[in-house]
Amino acid sequence: MRNGLSGYNKPSSSDLDGLRRVLGPQDVSTDRYDLLTNAFDAYPGELHLPDVVVWPETAEEVSLVLRLANEKRIPVYVRGAGTGLAGACVPVYGGIVINTMKMNRILDVRPLDLQVDVQPGVIYDQLNAHLAPYGLFFPPDPGSSKSCTIGGMIANNASGLRAVRYGVTRDYVLSMELVLPSGELLRVGANVFKSSVGYDVVRLIVGSEGTLGVITNATLRLRKLPRHRSTVAAYFDSIEGGVSVINAIRQEGLDPAAIEFLDRIHIELISKHSNVLLPTHECMLILEFHGYSANGVADEVKTAAEILKESGSVQIELPKSSQEEQRIWDARKAMYPSVTRATKAPITGDIIVPLSKLYDTVQKAYDLGKRYGVVVGVAGHLGDGNVHTNWFTEGRDTDSWLRAMKANSELVDYAISVGGAASAEHGIGIEKKDFMRTQHGEGLELMRRIKALFDPEGILNPGVMI
Ligand SMILES: Cc1cc2nc3c(=O)[nH]c(=O)nc-3n(C[C@H](O)[C@H](O)[C@H](O)COP(=O)(O)OP(=O)(O)OC[C@H]3O[C@@H](n4cnc5c(N)ncnc54)[C@H](O)[C@@H]3O)c2cc1C
Repeated sequence: MRNGLSGYNKPSSSDLDGLRRVLGPQDVSTDRYDLLTNAFDAYPGELHLPDVVVWPETAEEVSLVLRLANEKRIPVYVRGAGTGLAGACVPVYGGIVINTMKMNRILDVRPLDLQVDVQPGVIYDQLNAHLAPYGLFFPPDPGSSKSCTIGGMIANNASGLRAVRYGVTRDYVLSMELVLPSGELLRVGANVFKSSVGYDVVRLIVGSEGTLGVITNATLRLRKLPRHRSTVAAYFDSIEGGVSVINAIRQEGLDPAAIEFLDRIHIELISKHSNVLLPTHECMLILEFHGYSANGVADEVKTAAEILKESGSVQIELPKSSQEEQRIWDARKAMYPSVTRATKAPITGDIIVPLSKLYDTVQKAYDLGKRYGVVVGVAGHLGDGNVHTNWFTEGRDTDSWLRAMKANSELVDYAISVGGAASAEHGIGIEKKDFMRTQHGEGLELMRRIKALFDPEGILNPGVMI
């Protein structure tokens, strides 16, 4: 049966039988509850039900599902944990959702190579818990680390709290097994730290939001866990002080692993909705330093504390135990859950700008909030230029929602105009598709040609990103 406008087909009952033969009936569902729980991610914008959800366990099963879908022109959406904030796994045209949660095995840790092989449904925190006894870790650390999958992180080029020092997911993917929409299975990349052998397909797939192929296995580069680490929390009574000091710290040549920012509205919400009580000030910074020697880390902390004080910090906390440090990081990770308890449908912004434009951008967000009459809070990984905003709406499809959407769009345009990007880590999904042209100009046509080369029938994640 045709799906109307899109020209895609719905799976027929014989297609559903075909899927059950491939996967077994237990891993194919048309149950309404399964359709509903696989219909959306953390982006509150749109809800579209798929026709069927499948839970493959092997690359061969993924390949057979895609082969069938490609022959029948049935849309397929790949889903990790569904924590994405841009709607990148939302089944806009219905069809099949491939849920990777059963592909959750850590296959091989090779400590001497500093590498691990994983299936895509492995959860980030579980991977690092498994790696810790080897003294290893996979650094990107998104705020959703307790639930997001490695496949979702690769497809979104996720990053997070420690990108300032360690970089983003893209910097850690050495090779991957990929199933193309035709069902063809191939391995791209090489398990070495550098290579110079033709096009870098791995880097193309990272950040492609499931539009080019399904990742069924990946080899990740790892880092040794730092021998010493130290956290610093600093509070400011002015936004300018709290933002400007970030450049002062980086210009001094200090190399923090994290520089996180929370403004007053987020500080108050965390104190209200989590079990951590923070002192109320205009904003706070959380810094973490990693190093090989205790003295080296202590020196960096001392210099950072001096700079923070000189820049107007009114209170500096230097936790004395790992429990105290954990308390501060728990507060940071409680930020988004606290926001969602305060408002039904927050619009979460994610832009990145050059460091020299950081303060102007934060100020622009507050100005837009005033102009559009929407409460806005600024938070996030400011240390690398990544500014997150939470626009507090009175629910979806309300007047405040529309005003917040406009304000957020203007902020994205501003970021691009000062040399930044429409998204630093959450991706484009369905939320930010309109900005692809502004960001890339004619480059967008090249991307469309690449998409057509990988996916001539356009069955993979249609309506997402491109
Ligand atoms: C509280 C909270 C905090 C967050 N903090 C951060 C943060 O600090 N940094 C950050 O970067 N993001 C953050 N996010 C966003 C999100 O968690 C990340 O983008 C994460 O990487 C998504 O992983 P997922 O498994 O949930 O993927 P999903 O949301 O399920 O999917 C994301 C994209 O990946 C594709 N995909 C999934 N698996 C595969 C696969 N095997 N092959 C091909 N494509 C695939 C999907 O089709 C989709 O396009 C946060 C979200 C929440 C809710």
